[in-house]
Amino acid sequence: MKSIATIYRIGPGPSSSHTLALKRACECFKTHVSSIHSIHATLVGSLALTGKGHFSDEIIRSCFKPLDCPVDFKLEWDQSYPHGFILDASTDHGHIIWHIFSIGGGAFEVAEHPELNEKEIYDLSTLSAINQICEQKGWQYLDYIHSIEADLDQPLNEALDAMLASVDRGLTKTGYLRGKLNVNRCAMGLYDQAIKCKDLKETVDLKLMAYAFAAAEENADGKVVVTAPTLGSCGVMAALMMYASHDLKMERTTLINGLKVAGLFGNIARENASVSGAIGGCQAEIGVACAMAAAGYSAMLGCDNRVVETSAEIAMEHHLGLTCDPVDGYVIIPCIERNSQAILRALDASLLARNIVALRQNKVSFDAVIDTMRYTGSMLPKELKETSLGGLATVIGQTNGDTLCHQ
Ligand code: SF4
Repeated sequence: MKSIATIYRIGPGPSSSHTLALKRACECFKTHVSSIHSIHATLVGSLALTGKGHFSDEIIRSCFKPLDCPVDFKLEWDQSYPHGFILDASTDHGHIIWHIFSIGGGAFEVAEHPELNEKEIYDLSTLSAINQICEQKGWQYLDYIHSIEADLDQPLNEALDAMLASVDRGLTKTGYLRGKLNVNRCAMGLYDQAIKCKDLKETVDLKLMAYAFAAAEENADGKVVVTAPTLGSCGVMAALMMYASHDLKMERTTLINGLKVAGLFGNIARENASVSGAIGGCQAEIGVACAMAAAGYSAMLGCDNRVVETSAEIAMEHHLGLTCDPVDGYVIIPCIERNSQAILRALDASLLARNIVALRQNKVSFDAVIDTMRYTGSMLPKELKETSLGGLATVIGQTNGDTLCHQ
């Protein structure tokens, strides 16, 4: 598995696989290819269907703008081609072509240059193997992570700052989000209602949802957020971090440790299944984000490995089958609300795990639920994997036309 730091990438929304991965790939292309006269970009697979709504064309254009060369686009829907794009540059040395695959969470691979792939850091890639080591050595997950990666604090501190900043900014803004859906921001309004609320439980829940909305609305508007594990699902971990820092007043070290443990679970999901809505449906994005938050929260509360694993497993299990059907290709409906529901479910999963481990042995391991997620994702039809050809994406279009009064 790769570094846990790669689960938390800071970058512009609205989609890790449509904007962040493309931005990173184009920047990489520019450092490897010189004397570019013009660029021809072809968006392929589900990127061809939803790239426009996700602003993929804008991000490619802005990356090549400093070179002052013409950039043109072609959309090619080929369902046998993975989610990706092709860059064809006319240069002093002839045409240079890269076939680039966006594999989720802002990561990309280049068919012609496998040496550019990020390094594998962890030998073990299943939780059962990690559990064995932890049992032998008497380790918590954090000890295991520290035995492999001692230098995570700096990148995770940067990620934490960017997460908290995205929530802070999102809570102060009003107005309409980018795109044609005419959806207005709600984070500030939800937060105002939270602090006026008399019921303590409702206040906490409303605050959590406001935090998740704040980050997810920033993402939808193309602002800088943090993948966890993707940009579409960025609000879940951001809400947890804001709640733990602002409301629970947890120490910064505790927050960073929570990010580490949550990142381990996101890493295992990415390695053994996927964190891309285009590959596995929304279960791979929001489901994994929920599992990460549940594991991270239990770890921050000082729970042992068994409780932490059970928290993540419960959170993931009850997202199995969740489809990805963004309306008009925008990461707005159902994405923003979905972040707010997942943070509540993450805390509930942690609560259940903390109490149920004393009552019974869990029958479903985290590895088993991730394998089920991978299998379920492979069985989902393409219409429900970020193509906007099915689900809410078509129902909303058919019933409400362009006028949306409910998000
Ligand atoms: S529905 Fe889920 S997976 Fe699809 S774009 Fe929205 S958040 Fe991402």
